[in-house]
Amino acid sequence: MFNSEIETMSESKMKELQLERLKWSIRHAYDNVPHYRKTFDDAGFNPDQFKTLDDMRRVPFLTKQDMRDAYPYGLFAVPLSKVVRVHASSGTTGNATVVGYTKNDVEVFSEVVARSLACYGVTENDIVQNAYGYGLFTGGLGAHYGAEKIGAITVPISGGNTPRQIMIMKDFGSTVLCSTPSYALNIADYIESNMPDFDMSSLKLKIAVMGAEPWTEEMRQQIEKRLNVDAFDIYGLSEVIGPGVSAECTEKSGLHVFEDHFYVEIIDPDTGEILPEGSEGEIVYTSLTKEAFPTIRYRSKDITRLYHDSCRCGRTLVKMDKVTGRTDDMLIIRGVNVFPSQIESVLMQEEGTEPHYQIIVDRKGTMDEIEVMVEVNEKVFSDEIKVLDSLAKSLAHRVKSTLGITAKIKLVEPKSIPRSEGKAVRVIDNRKK
Ligand SMILES: [Zn+2]
Repeated sequence: MFNSEIETMSESKMKELQLERLKWSIRHAYDNVPHYRKTFDDAGFNPDQFKTLDDMRRVPFLTKQDMRDAYPYGLFAVPLSKVVRVHASSGTTGNATVVGYTKNDVEVFSEVVARSLACYGVTENDIVQNAYGYGLFTGGLGAHYGAEKIGAITVPISGGNTPRQIMIMKDFGSTVLCSTPSYALNIADYIESNMPDFDMSSLKLKIAVMGAEPWTEEMRQQIEKRLNVDAFDIYGLSEVIGPGVSAECTEKSGLHVFEDHFYVEIIDPDTGEILPEGSEGEIVYTSLTKEAFPTIRYRSKDITRLYHDSCRCGRTLVKMDKVTGRTDDMLIIRGVNVFPSQIESVLMQEEGTEPHYQIIVDRKGTMDEIEVMVEVNEKVFSDEIKVLDSLAKSLAHRVKSTLGITAKIKLVEPKSIPRSEGKAVRVIDNRKK
């Protein structure tokens, strides 16, 4: 463990620490950010009234829209002279969200990523190939500082240029790959299609640190088999800090939340009510130590569950389920709620399909129609048409029986769905146009 005192702290002691830090963080936001002062005042909430964790329910939420409206520095709580770094989200659906860090915030960010890497078994003896994009996106620099903090050799290769990734991996003896899960599969694809004589055992890769997009257990199995690694989830949001909000341990069942820096709650996304431990709902984050960009009750739109168990790794930190859906990504097809990850799970149950797919939603008249394009491997694609037909029918049947929606399945040839070097584009919703 990177910080065993914190990571094995008793639940009651952790709650004391959180309460003390919450009082500071809420006061810090109220005193220094006009937005918080206004929303707290409007809700009749004064930080002096914050006495116990139960008082959290009285604190107003912060939304993504609030962040967009504050573009670029409106939610910063320190003078810009104290800010040493900014990151920003892609801003595909509006203003980008800009987040800032003081020197101390960068230190905390590095620490939580280092703790995450230690969760997977990464040590100073490792060589970490960091294929996350370097830039405004938090993934690249986040993973970089964490890997350096742990003392590993950090290879700042960034995303893209797959042949060079493979060459570096081999020549430098990389033992850890950090990337999005879809990019890890691109690397596997490239080796399988273009380097038939490549000897996988010439690679020293053993750990894949996967994050920045939701991915399923089926995808984990593919990555582990094809790259001969253990693949682990690293979770985070730039709005909260970046990667390193929580991390899987070697048990691969749930992610430990670094709750000495991030206070987490589960709410009902419709009513905003706090739900009891163990319930599924939207996860809400409050930063406990961040100076430049405090986030107080940020509604993440990620759907998960929180629980305590006696994890065999020895950590006592609260766990969250792997996030496989955001309320933003949820599709409503003729009144049925479905996440792209659920469709992915079904597709991967049939032999011959590849984890590259795209979901196209259209509206014909008043009816929603959904078409799922999924790649099949070379062998299946070269089969007779009736074999392909029966595979498509079988997939459509599985989608219908498991998810309750009627989807048209279109099997496409290998490599025909556009690849990304960052987050994969899974859904094209033409109803929004
Ligand atoms: Zn554990």
